[in-house]
Amino acid sequence: MFAEVAFPIRSFQTFTYSIPAKHILSINVGTRVSVPFRNKVIQGIVVNIKKNNSYLGSIKRIIEPVDNVQVITHPLWELINWVSKYYITPIGKVASSVVPKSLSSNYTPQIKNYVRARKKVDLEKVSKLKHTAPKQYLVFKIISKKNKTFKVSSFKKVVSNPLQICISLKEKGLIKLIKKTKPLDFNQSVFEPIFKNIVFNKEQKLVIDRIIISLKKYNFYSFLLHGVTGSGKTEIYIEAVRYCLSQKRNAIILLPEISLTPQIAGRFRAVFGDIVAIWHSKLKVAQRSWTWGKICTGDFKIVIGARSAIFSPLKNVGLIIVDEEQESSFYQDAKEPRYHARDVALMRGSFEKSTVIVASATPSLESFYNSQQKKIEYLRLPKRFGNAKYPKVHIVDMLLNQEETGNFDQVISGLLQDKIEEKLKKNEQIILIQNRRGFSPIVKCKDCGALVMCNQCKIALTYHKNKNRLVCHFCSFSISNDMLICQDCSKSNLIYSGTGTQKVEQLIRDTFPKSKICRLDMDTSKSNLGLTSILKSFSNQEFDILIGTQMVAKGLDFPNATLVGIINADLGLYLPDFRATERVFQLIYQASGRSGRSTKEGEVVIQTYSPNNIVIKNAKNLNIAKFYKTELLEREELNYPPYSWLAKVEFAGPNRLRLFSLIEKFKHNLKGVYTGLDILGPAPCFLEKLKNNYRFQLVFKSKKRFDPNGVYLHRFVNENFKNYNNKKLLGRNKINIYFDPISLI
Ligand SMILES: [Zn+2]
Ligand SMILES: [Zn+2]
Repeated sequence: MFAEVAFPIRSFQTFTYSIPAKHILSINVGTRVSVPFRNKVIQGIVVNIKKNNSYLGSIKRIIEPVDNVQVITHPLWELINWVSKYYITPIGKVASSVVPKSLSSNYTPQIKNYVRARKKVDLEKVSKLKHTAPKQYLVFKIISKKNKTFKVSSFKKVVSNPLQICISLKEKGLIKLIKKTKPLDFNQSVFEPIFKNIVFNKEQKLVIDRIIISLKKYNFYSFLLHGVTGSGKTEIYIEAVRYCLSQKRNAIILLPEISLTPQIAGRFRAVFGDIVAIWHSKLKVAQRSWTWGKICTGDFKIVIGARSAIFSPLKNVGLIIVDEEQESSFYQDAKEPRYHARDVALMRGSFEKSTVIVASATPSLESFYNSQQKKIEYLRLPKRFGNAKYPKVHIVDMLLNQEETGNFDQVISGLLQDKIEEKLKKNEQIILIQNRRGFSPIVKCKDCGALVMCNQCKIALTYHKNKNRLVCHFCSFSISNDMLICQDCSKSNLIYSGTGTQKVEQLIRDTFPKSKICRLDMDTSKSNLGLTSILKSFSNQEFDILIGTQMVAKGLDFPNATLVGIINADLGLYLPDFRATERVFQLIYQASGRSGRSTKEGEVVIQTYSPNNIVIKNAKNLNIAKFYKTELLEREELNYPPYSWLAKVEFAGPNRLRLFSLIEKFKHNLKGVYTGLDILGPAPCFLEKLKNNYRFQLVFKSKKRFDPNGVYLHRFVNENFKNYNNKKLLGRNKINIYFDPISLI
């Protein structure tokens, strides 16, 4: 028997190996195997089994399967195939993100050895040791001196092979050897169980009934759950999962941000106990391996996690929930496979015959449109949970504010300052959002006006005051502020302007010196510990004010937070991307949802330079219906999703001219152009140079009127770009393909 094996490489090629007789039963399609490959042993995945082999050269043998249990079930294998085809990615690459090399279902926890002296020992034996085995004697003396347990590894200072020596001492009956498995600490990633007493209202009961009816059918079905912020979606999830478990099926819950997992996992732990697993990239390798092993064996029945949790090897999946489905973090765009976890969730649901719920307070235009087209059932929770009211929203016109105060770099308006003071007096909490980290995102030369840029990226450097360095947020290049001179005129008169989270923090500290302030952005949340402890402390009201980027805008539930301030609502509004306005609307709407979630009334202050912008206005009135109406009209006019299929092909390379001529050549040779296809570009990417590579893109739009299922566009991109790994053709340049890209910048 022979197996075709795929590897995580940029090529669609597979390799043939023979299957040793003793492994014939345990090696199937989808089995991970270790095989010899160019003088190394590596992992691959079996994509096909065949009786005969047409290849005439010498054939190597598979060494053995990697896992003891079946990891990739049939539906999961179908999913891997779908992802590979749909996102035009070699199957070996997809498989290796489903079953990463670092993870094994045969995980055994680390074992630590300890020793302790025995109470009664044969003294004669001991004195003999002195001459026959002086090293054993030495170690024994240390152990017997104290009535305590020693780590075996602690004797490394004394002898080179402590374990061997301790084993010999044990065999002589002089000491006790104790093995302990190192406990895994998950406390850093999970809140304490959070108990709530729930009484459902009429709308919630209706929603739960619809979901249960679907679960009872054991077939694929999907819902868009549109629930206003604070409408109790988590309670609905819990009820749905409870029913799914009662059918002896399992559930996956996807969350857009790692920062949201501890709180929601806490709620689930309180209800379901130890069968809840947490899955995201910030877990340590040991935690990941342990969790993954227990998912494989079925000890965990609920997996809660970020994007990659959609690939978890959970068996018999009855329910998949995608919370805040509109979030762009569900799209993995930095590496292959480039996929949208929400769309993958819907596909997994169809292979597993499960119920899929995509939920949001601000559904994406795609999902909203699909619900109008009856492709997905629309469920609505129009009321806030309990007696919580909608927050009162104030808009501050920052231009007018500047004219009135004469202060042109004012960051916190008078109104926002008054509101903060008012809430502090009442011992209520405040959340301030500035969607940019660092201190000053713009550093300019006073003499010639040149911006200080990263040489590798063509991006303005951001000043970080605590480190006194300028940092590139794309390639993490940094330079000391003291050494900085203008790259154009070599003078060192620099102006620091623009506002990042660090600057907001300092201003607030200066204005309210007695208040307790914490900040949450990529800089303070680098470790999982930092993130969870900040959120925990704010939740326990150890802080009055939480300052952060969009990380703090969504999903979190802080009942005592009654004021949300958006420092600059315009950030992103004028980006050259078809989703720019959708993003700004969502940010404002979601952020407003953090305010006044329980009995206390909430307020929101939005600072803007464009108070008459239709997006800001609709967001202010929390008028989501009107927003969808205007935005959908615009998308239809410009032929953007949801009215078209979109693919972006990005070219990157170190030499601008050569790259451009390559892309021209590709464009010139395009085959199979059809009616309804728009070709845009080549144009430089919005970030034209990153990490010393220039970047250009071709964009393809395929009208749904002519291409209802996107089949034409797939065929077109496949035919023209599938060989994107061809080194001869590309040289040092690279091509990346994005299907349904989340943005065009
Ligand atoms: Zn200058
Ligand atoms: Zn850079």
